[in-house]
Amino acid sequence: MKIQRRQALAGLGAAAMVPLGAGAQTSSKANANARPIRIAVMHFVHETVTFLPYDTVTDDFIYEGSPARGEALLASQPVSYIGGFVTVAREYGNVELVGIESPLGSKKGSGSGWITKDAFDHFLNKMIADLKTQGHFDGAYLCLHGAMGVRDVAKPEAEIARRVREVIGPKGFIAGTFDPHGNEDAEFLRHANLAFCIKYYPHYDGYLQGERAARTLIRCIRGQYKPVSATRKPPILTPSVLQWTGASPWMDLVQRALTWEAREPDVYVSFYYGFAFMDAIDAGMCFQVMTNGNPELADHIADDIAGTAWRLRDELLHHTKVVSHTEGVRLAKDAMQQGKVVLADHSDRTGAATWLLQQIIAQKLSNTLIGTIADEDAINTLRKKGVKVGDPFDMEIGGRIDVSAGKPVRIKGTVSSVSGGVMHGGGKAAGSQLWVGVKFGDGNVVVISPYLVQIVEPRHFLDLGIDPDTFKAFAIKSRVHFHRGFTDSGYCKSFILVEPDQPFVGTVRLEALNYTHTPIKKLYPYAANVVFTVKGPGKLGDYPGRDGTTE
Ligand SMILES: [Zn+2]
Repeated sequence: MKIQRRQALAGLGAAAMVPLGAGAQTSSKANANARPIRIAVMHFVHETVTFLPYDTVTDDFIYEGSPARGEALLASQPVSYIGGFVTVAREYGNVELVGIESPLGSKKGSGSGWITKDAFDHFLNKMIADLKTQGHFDGAYLCLHGAMGVRDVAKPEAEIARRVREVIGPKGFIAGTFDPHGNEDAEFLRHANLAFCIKYYPHYDGYLQGERAARTLIRCIRGQYKPVSATRKPPILTPSVLQWTGASPWMDLVQRALTWEAREPDVYVSFYYGFAFMDAIDAGMCFQVMTNGNPELADHIADDIAGTAWRLRDELLHHTKVVSHTEGVRLAKDAMQQGKVVLADHSDRTGAATWLLQQIIAQKLSNTLIGTIADEDAINTLRKKGVKVGDPFDMEIGGRIDVSAGKPVRIKGTVSSVSGGVMHGGGKAAGSQLWVGVKFGDGNVVVISPYLVQIVEPRHFLDLGIDPDTFKAFAIKSRVHFHRGFTDSGYCKSFILVEPDQPFVGTVRLEALNYTHTPIKKLYPYAANVVFTVKGPGKLGDYPGRDGTTE
């Protein structure tokens, strides 16, 4: 059927051609006459905490609705990357999108370790097979993360692009979108043409990056954008909790990228903060700059922004304050007198950690909502019992999974909510999950979930049947994402970042992690005399020179 359609259009001859440059606008008139194009849409995303003791396996990506293909895949992220991509692509005439069979996110989120080679091959082979059977494509959009950790595959996102390139051929264009916690270098762009990375942390701009990917990919296919890129990798490795872009100096780097995009037409700057909890050869910060056929400009901007990051390296590391759980709970008692407070247990990578819960109990913190403690076994037990609201509760929860999770904690109280759980971004949790809230102590509630979860918006508690307004403190498993709903919104007056006394996985003390691939001894601040040489500042000679006619 596809072939027939293409033959029919070929019969239109010159009438199907559009002059170069005419399609830069998305007016339906310009595109109604444009050559029909087909774009494959694919998704394979995981942020892998490779230090966790249990692997991420095939089954983790298989649940009701996943894998997805066709319209189901295209509709799978209405407010994130794919949603933005689909919306803009469909503003153009004669653009056909094809959702290729792809796994959606892991039902364990980022709460599991290395992806097995089997799981990676299983899904990528299926994606490639589907891509082949769907016929000719002018381009492919790959919705990726950048910190996917696969056993025996050094750079999985680049490998995905390489495999897709083999199918769509050298003339096709490939665009990727990424999370800023990606560990990237120039490899992906050897196989792909375009990369668009979220700039803000919390991750506010996924939809926007999807929109840009669509528009630029279509311009490439139509011959209006000739992508050239420059990549710089300042040797800086930072834990995620320090990377909040709502404050300087991280905000300043985002602002620098935005400024370049604002002042130069057709420039895109991707700023990867890097992801330290993935043991990867390319872990750490990275900048990619794309221009429309101007390699000198790409180099200049890449040097400028990488140099800016390097100059700010000390501040990037030392601006954020993280305290122990003991100190955090003590501070929260005072802070609660002034208004609602968030206790963000940033370092828990299993979801099962009980250190903060132990301190809440020991220091008799009241009116506190603890969300969540992950305990799959406890949830299975409760499910078998047919748990319901009002049941008395006396069980040990959390801990056990590994040393970072600590000891299980016995909670005696009353079941106050039973629900299906929520996703990180809102909406229902994957699969038929069971989440249970238990009232205990002086106005406290602890929520038990099967897997690690970050509650990023207080209103997500409403979906669990819990009214957040009735609490004064929120003890959550989150690093930075919580700012979205808890502090950027003004809902909470203050926040306190906590981690255990010992440097477990997730710690800000990265020197304690057992890296085998990441060259930590060559990365600031973990080695003395790390050298990074960039052009400028103070040298104008290399700049290709554009008179600022609008300045
Ligand atoms: Zn991220």
